[in-house]
Order: sequence, then C-alpha cells, then structure tokens
Amino acid sequence: MLNRDKYILALDEGTTSARAIIFNRESKVLSLGQYGFPQIYPHPGWVEHNPDEIWSAQIKAVRDALSSAQIEASEIAAIGVTNQRETTILWDKSTGKPIHNAIVWQCRRTADIAEELRRDYGSLFKDKTGLIPDSYFSGPKVKWLLDNISGLRERAKRGEILFGTIDSFLIWRLTGGKTHIIDYSNASRTMMFNIHKLDWDRELLEILGVPESVLPEPLPSSHIYGYTDPNVLGVSVPVSGDIGDQQAALFGQVAFSEGMVKCTYGTGNFLLMNTGSKPRESKRLLTTIAWGIGKDVTYALEGSIFISGAAIQWLKEALGLIENLSETETLASSLRSSEGVFFVPAFVGLGAPYWDQYARGLIIGLTRGAGKAHIVRATLESIAYLTRDVLEVMKEDSGIKIDELRVDGGASKNDFLMQIQADILGLRIVRPLILETTSLGAAYMAGLTVDYWSSLEELASMWRIERIFEPKISLIERDRLYKVWRKAVERCLGWARILEDTGLE
Ligand code: ADP
Repeated sequence: MLNRDKYILALDEGTTSARAIIFNRESKVLSLGQYGFPQIYPHPGWVEHNPDEIWSAQIKAVRDALSSAQIEASEIAAIGVTNQRETTILWDKSTGKPIHNAIVWQCRRTADIAEELRRDYGSLFKDKTGLIPDSYFSGPKVKWLLDNISGLRERAKRGEILFGTIDSFLIWRLTGGKTHIIDYSNASRTMMFNIHKLDWDRELLEILGVPESVLPEPLPSSHIYGYTDPNVLGVSVPVSGDIGDQQAALFGQVAFSEGMVKCTYGTGNFLLMNTGSKPRESKRLLTTIAWGIGKDVTYALEGSIFISGAAIQWLKEALGLIENLSETETLASSLRSSEGVFFVPAFVGLGAPYWDQYARGLIIGLTRGAGKAHIVRATLESIAYLTRDVLEVMKEDSGIKIDELRVDGGASKNDFLMQIQADILGLRIVRPLILETTSLGAAYMAGLTVDYWSSLEELASMWRIERIFEPKISLIERDRLYKVWRKAVERCLGWARILEDTGLE
C-alpha cells in the first residue's frame, strides 16, 4: 500500500483525557477515541496524574479510533504526539516504572522554589529560556522530586533515572524504551532549555540541581524519533511528530507566517503569535519555541488567561443561571449591551499581562435592573476583554501588526462571543472548519516528516474557513467600553492581599 493511501494518527494527550484522532490525506477526521483519567489531589493546590493511567487511556483511545475508522494499525503511515505541556515524569530507566506520579502543570507545590528562583535568577532564566520562573514549568518540579525522594539524586547522577514531559514518556513507551527525546517546543517549557542555543543549559541545570544524565535528547518537532514496538500496537510505525498542545494548535491553524495569531478558547484562553525565526523579548509575555522543522526554528510569544470557558461553566455549575452552555448566546443577545455591568473572572488571580496572583473575581455596575442576562453577557464580554488585554501587549512587544485572529477550542463555537470578540478587538475573527487544531497540528508534523504531505503550502491549501466575524461597532464605542473594562480590572487587583492583611483569608 502506498504511504499516501494510508492515514495519520495523532495522539492528543490532554490534562483530563487522552485522545486519538485519525486523519486522512485531505486532513479530514476519520475517527476519534477518547478516555479520561483521574486527577489526583494529594494536598490543596497539588495536582498529580498516574503515568500508567495516562498510558493505558492513550492506548485504549488508539484502539477505539482504529476500530471505529475500521482500519488496521498497519494502515497508519505515521504517528504524531501532542501533549499537555510542562507536566513532569521521572521514571526508572531499566524497569520503565515511574518513580512518582506525574506532577501536573497546574500543581502549585513548587511555588516557593519558583519564587526564590524568580527573585535570585529571574532575568537569567528569562534571557535564556524566555520564561518567567513559575511553578507552572518543569524545572522546579524535577528539582522538587530530586530533593524530596530519598536517594533519587544519587540514582539520577548514576544514569538510572530518566526525565520527560508526557510526550517524552509516551514516545519512550511507544518505541519500547528505545527512544528518549523531547521536541524543542516541549523543551522550551522546562525552564532548563536554552531557546537560543537549542540545548540544555548547564548553568541553569546547576542552579536547579538537575543532572544532565536524566534529560531527553532535544530534537525538532518533525523528525523520525523511532518506530513503535510491535508489542504495543502490533506493528512498527514511525513516530515522526512531537509538539506541545498550544504550539500544535498554532500549527494546525496553519499560522506559518510571522504575525499570525491564534487563540484557543478552552478552560482558559491561550494566545500564541508566530514571531518568525527570531525570539522576541517581552517582559509581560512568554517567549517560546513554536516548532522546529529541519534546521528552521520558529518562535512564538505566548499569553495565557487562566479562566475563560471556566467562567461560563461557573454560571451553570455554581450559580445555576443556565442549563446548557450554548444558552448563553440567546441570553446575552437579549440585551443591546451589558448596561454597565462588568465581570472580571479573576478566580485564581490574573495571568498575562497583569500577573497578579492576588486578584480575585468581581462583578461591578449592578443596579436593581440587572438580571441573569446581564451577568451572562458580562461573562462572555470579559473573555473578549481579557483576550484584548493580551493582544494589546503582543502588538506592543512584538512590534508586529496583527491582521486577524484565528480561533479554536470549545468556547469558540459560541457565535455571540466571537462577534463581540471581533467588536472589542476591531479585528477579523476567523473560525476554521476543523476545530481539532491541536491534533491536526501533531498530525501535520508527523505527516510532513514522512512525506505524507509534501510542504507547508500543501497544508495551508487544505485549511478551510467555517465563518468570519467582522467588527460591527465604531472605534469610539470600542475604546469607550475597553476603558471601562480596565477600570473594573483595577478594582479587583490585589484583593486577596486585602483579605490576608485583615485576617479574612
Ligand atoms: P479544555 O481543552 O480546556 O478542556 P475545551 O476546548 O474542550 O477546553 O473547551 C471547554 C470550554 O468551552 C468549557 O470551559 C466551556 O465552558 C466552554 N464552552 C463549550 N461550549 C460552549 C458554548 N457553546 N458557549 C460558551 N462556552 C462553551
């Protein structure tokens, strides 16, 4: 069978579930398998996953995807992996057994380590890795494991222990323990990787106390890393794509040129801008590697909003204001404006560009006339305003003009939200036909490597728009609304400190 008659399998290993999606040559989704796995909360603010549970969810998802597409594993031309980033696993090199549960990106157990690193070495880390030290990233998590598990650092120094983000771990298992790698996009989230030299940074490893012997080999995102062990799927198939989930979404949106931006509207919002072949510095955003293909590396600026879709869920689950999420569209459009009601969903503080972990949620402007529709509308509007906050900084710090915003993720299905997003940004919003952009990005990486697809141009030619949202309000109205939004944000900053200082928290 010709390679081109086959299919590409994307493994999309997320924070709450592992998915497997099979694409054909026209980049259509043939089938999808998905299994959730338990979230483990050993202490307040700590989050873990069991790597064996992730592995079995991932393999079951692959089996389901194959059987519902009615194809054999031998009909897969290549496998691409995309994953929740930063989540950290250490495992025993000889037995393959994890040493500890995976420490998940959301886990705050390393907040103190990260704060100390930020204080003492903040600009060193920012210059070399593009990241602001935070417990979010892998480096402090590896340090915590080596510091807290007795004898582990010595074993690591003897070369008995391997470190990986989830992509490394899955690829190591898929290849029967033959391949220990990480791609540049995932490596750039570890706080140990020099994004200019494309290699692990000795000075930073020393600061973190991480021995080099545990580290995977950093490689481009499109590369034949190895072949699946026949014991895993019954066949030997090339594993030829590896890319972190947000970068994969940027790639799946075929945002291949400098200045192209995507926003994923999920639990939170993730905005990435392709900044071309040179890393751009920004004090308020993260500089990261988008992907590496051959010798070419593409960089990105990234801004994250912690709570967006989660605020809509909150309307349903905590307040019981709505019965289903799409009902927000009719409720919000029953009003001509939110009539002065603003909601800042700073439930866990505010991310980019405010970086205030003490901010807390606020609803302001309530009058006796305010009702359910006002709260719902203000919630949708807040997502659009928070996105503008990040885009403003992206424009300023990159010096790049932004022409349009490509959108994906669960909440991008909401037409009302997309229209006010266009209005508040004064920018064209483009929603593609395939919203599975993360999996698509991983599939594209894998397919490019094995010549299943021949070029970026070919990928771009397959991209289809489902709908475009053009701004409908005037510049004066847009700026007036945004000005008030910024005043609302000002009022919620540092709230948790006030509570702390007065002994209320
Ligand atoms: P994640 O990958 O972060 O779990 P998804 O991309 O699956 O996120 O999107 C889930 C989010 O999308 C939820 O927080 C939910 O509130 C939001 N969402 C889903 N459908 C709608 C809708 N019709 N309108 C508004 N928000 C929605």
